[in-house]
Amino acid sequence: MVDSAAGPVDLVILGGGSGGYATALRAAELGLTVSLIEKDKLGGTCLHRGCIPTKALLHAAEVADNIHESGSFGILSTFEGIDIAKVNSYKDSVVSKLYRGLTGLVNTRGIEFVEGYGRLVSPTSVAVGDRVVTGRHVVLATGSQSKSLPGLEVDHHQVITSDDALRLDRVPASAVVLGAGAIGCEFASVWRSFGAEVTIVEALPHLVPLEEESSSKLLERAFRRRGIKQHLGARFAGVKTTDEGVTVALEDGTTIEAELLLVAVGRGPVSEGLGYEEVGIATDRGYVLVDHQLRTNVPTVSAIGDLRPGLQLAHVGFAEGIFLAESLAGLDPAPVDYDNIPRVTYSHPEVASVGLTSAAAEQRYGDIVTQTYDLAGNGKAQILQTAGAVTLVAVPDGPVVGVHIVGDRAGELIAEAQLITSWEALPAEVAQLIHPHPTLSESIGEAHLALAGKPLHSHN
Ligand SMILES: Cc1cc2nc3c(=O)[nH]c(=O)nc-3n(C[C@H](O)[C@H](O)[C@H](O)COP(=O)(O)OP(=O)(O)OC[C@H]3O[C@@H](n4cnc5c(N)ncnc54)[C@H](O)[C@@H]3O)c2cc1C
Repeated sequence: MVDSAAGPVDLVILGGGSGGYATALRAAELGLTVSLIEKDKLGGTCLHRGCIPTKALLHAAEVADNIHESGSFGILSTFEGIDIAKVNSYKDSVVSKLYRGLTGLVNTRGIEFVEGYGRLVSPTSVAVGDRVVTGRHVVLATGSQSKSLPGLEVDHHQVITSDDALRLDRVPASAVVLGAGAIGCEFASVWRSFGAEVTIVEALPHLVPLEEESSSKLLERAFRRRGIKQHLGARFAGVKTTDEGVTVALEDGTTIEAELLLVAVGRGPVSEGLGYEEVGIATDRGYVLVDHQLRTNVPTVSAIGDLRPGLQLAHVGFAEGIFLAESLAGLDPAPVDYDNIPRVTYSHPEVASVGLTSAAAEQRYGDIVTQTYDLAGNGKAQILQTAGAVTLVAVPDGPVVGVHIVGDRAGELIAEAQLITSWEALPAEVAQLIHPHPTLSESIGEAHLALAGKPLHSHN
């Protein structure tokens, strides 16, 4: 093996997904020399197998829903079907355009892109083929992959992961979705809009079980109305595959027949066989452990993104990458504020939140107050014909510490909510802000007006 001919760079980054490329871009901006190692395509899960392609499918699903529902707005149209080849080419064109843009950014910032499978071989170097790339500091950003359950074998044909689901060249006639987190609920939503019979199986008592319980219940009601069947608090027992499809068995004796089973039970770290443990990096079930500065126990190695324990979201990877690059460049950035990360499930309807659920706030503060504003009172929600609510969680006579929204386009509203919880705004301060009428954003203003004791378009 030969060492990097030009000598060590400032930063060697292993993995070119959201976390890795954000670190590279910010570090290069700050004048650091960077080698970015990626075995597949720059952009990682989010761009190629995650956020972007799924949201393109969800948008196509929304178009299909609009056609189905157009008669209720007095617009006469006929739904002729889904041309999945065209849907896929639209989805792929969005990904390709962003991929070209990202590749251009990495090139113009002078980042060395090293294509190949990397393996950590010392606290300062990564081997790629017969080359060793050495740096003053190494960032591990190898991300995550779909997990399964013990004994549940994914055959990538009838028992599939989200990667396989994105490559499907047909709309399944029917599907069982195992796991009701964001990924499971988003695929259930897309397939239902495309005409499939969908059944969700979730071991915990609710859909999107980490969200505020009232948000979960609103989504459950909306999904029921859309004809998405749900087995909640139901444990998976096994699956049999046949020529026609799958038979999924639950521990309560229920069996469900479908064309395929999507396993969406979470994602685990990509760290096995990558040399991390040999170099002495502390891990827990494969996740690389880091402190609040994102440093591992080995001083020259940091880890970011889905690889470390915690929320697995692209924007968390971006924030961590920016933080890490700035701290390695000698700046003094504020650490990532994990309490105020916006979370969105982009189903129809969307579920979005930031800050604490009421249960978590009770644990932290003891006494709390909550306020729910029903979108029934919001003009724009009625125009769009979307149902849902904004729920606020606040400390009595204190700041708003959680905002939970259900309804179409909720994901676009959560950014304002993030300012509210991050700046520890008081309900009366937000009530003071004027929201444009008629917009969905008014529902945030109205919820705060109600919590400040001066409700306008609400009964409480
Ligand atoms: C279906 C789906 C939908 C999602 N939707 C959203 C969403 O809407 N919003 C959101 O915020 N998040 C979403 N996510 C999560 C998001 O994609 C991840 O949180 C994000 O991609 C994590 O970034 P990362 O850099 O940690 O890892 P990754 O993006 O997984 O990148 C890791 C990179 O490392 C490379 N790599 C791994 N091992 C090696 C090696 N040995 N050598 C060289 N390269 C290597 C991989 O090829 C990969 O490119 C979704 C995920 C999925 C699966």
